[in-house]
Amino acid sequence: MKPIIAEVAVLGAGPAGASIACRLARLGRDVVLIGDGSPRRRALPESISPGIHPLLDLLNLNDALDTFATECDPPDVRWEEPGPLKYSVSGPSGHLVDRSKMDACLVDAARGAGVQVIATRVGDVPTRRAEGGWLVRIATPIFEEVHVGFLIVATGRKPVLFQGRKRIMPPLLALHSRWKLPYPARTRISVEALREGWVWWAPLADGSCYAVAFMDPLLRRRSGQLSIENIYVAFLSEAAVFGNCLNGSQIDKVRACDASAVLANKVIGSDWMLVGDSAVALEPISAQGIQVALKLGCQGAVVVHTILSDVSSAPVAEMFYRDQCQAIAARHSRATAEFYAGPKRFRHEPFWMARAFRNTNPALRPAPTGSVDVTTLLRLSTDASLRDLPCLIGDRICLQMALEHPSLDGPVSHLGNVAVAALLRGTTQAQTAGELCRSWIRTGITERPLTLLRWFLKNGILAPTDVPG
Ligand SMILES: Cc1cc2nc3c(=O)[nH]c(=O)nc-3n(C[C@H](O)[C@H](O)[C@H](O)COP(=O)(O)OP(=O)(O)OC[C@H]3O[C@@H](n4cnc5c(N)ncnc54)[C@H](O)[C@@H]3O)c2cc1C
Repeated sequence: MKPIIAEVAVLGAGPAGASIACRLARLGRDVVLIGDGSPRRRALPESISPGIHPLLDLLNLNDALDTFATECDPPDVRWEEPGPLKYSVSGPSGHLVDRSKMDACLVDAARGAGVQVIATRVGDVPTRRAEGGWLVRIATPIFEEVHVGFLIVATGRKPVLFQGRKRIMPPLLALHSRWKLPYPARTRISVEALREGWVWWAPLADGSCYAVAFMDPLLRRRSGQLSIENIYVAFLSEAAVFGNCLNGSQIDKVRACDASAVLANKVIGSDWMLVGDSAVALEPISAQGIQVALKLGCQGAVVVHTILSDVSSAPVAEMFYRDQCQAIAARHSRATAEFYAGPKRFRHEPFWMARAFRNTNPALRPAPTGSVDVTTLLRLSTDASLRDLPCLIGDRICLQMALEHPSLDGPVSHLGNVAVAALLRGTTQAQTAGELCRSWIRTGITERPLTLLRWFLKNGILAPTDVPG
């Protein structure tokens, strides 16, 4: 039987796999996407925030959003206090996603970009071929083998190419099920902190609702003979959001899954890459998992394209991807731990003590600069540095002068189309805000200096000084 031969194989057709396949094909690569499209956790709806729109734009999918997502009101959050938080009606609203429809839409986009899609499961671990490249065994009536030069693993929390993983937060277990309530329930998504974990609850279009209980896996083990259903219902009975609607409700089979935050020890090699949850899996509290999977998919495509185009750029491209995954993990553990520090009423409970952390490092929070006018002397902060770092420029990864500062999520080489190095040239010497803006206009760097100046001040990169020169 003839094998399928392609440049790149992507295993797993979730958000990470479909997006990387789509972007690679649009960059001119010959890609095969192999996914089982299995209904794993598919009944579980997921939230996405407005931050996902630029990524959907990149994939030409913003117009399709309505086909797989429903806009929802700001959530009812009971976190710091037992009562609900005040929410802003004008605040950005999120969406509730039907994952089956979303994943199908992403796979369609990949197919439309020229990707060969094979709907099947990869049973064995892919192996290296003596001639170079990879052999992937699949089970379809027509093909049995796929031969490729580059392998991308996007099979979610269970990567078929296992590189070892480290936890970035304590372990977290999710028990979830769909409920049919005896009477119409509230219409908002709800998030509520409980003594031994937290609950996420969402109303569905057909009048039912979905509830997920997040807890330490030890709680399940400690519960001995209790069935998973009993543990789940007992846990939820403490939630105000359920009120007294547990009585008379019907509940589907309760399922359990791992929801821990982990980072793979190695995310990329010279001819392979892990992407999405296979590389870095986040806790659902962030509601960022899908967004990060799409982001790594879009960036990962440029990394693989760079490696395949010019082997001498491979070390820089690999470094870029490794740094991205590590930065995502570091940001996530910092933000999640601060969030877990919120409910003060539970601060002595083991679940919360193991996770909470209050950021006391002032370097991570730039001090307010006070009022700045054209005569204020400004200078580059001593915490800021500029050096050559791997950056994503267009459709390649290359070395570029980039700015680093503790208040930034990662190195920044450009603000819009403007190179940061050009903006900060000469700022190790103090100069007035007026002189700086005029010099940016005079040298043709920008005609709208105030937005850029505000960004530097807000992030503490340019700081007022009393010392001239
Ligand atoms: C309980 C829970 C709640 C969550 N809630 C949210 C939320 O509200 N918002 C949010 O943004 N994120 C949420 N997440 C995270 C989000 O689901 C993931 O981050 C996201 O799905 C990662 O996408 P992925 O493509 O990397 O992996 P996946 O979505 O897991 O996709 C992997 C794909 O690979 C396929 N596959 C696996 N093995 C094989 C194989 N051997 N052969 C072929 N195909 C295979 C799978 O069937 C699947 O289609 C939640 C996670 C959990 C556990």
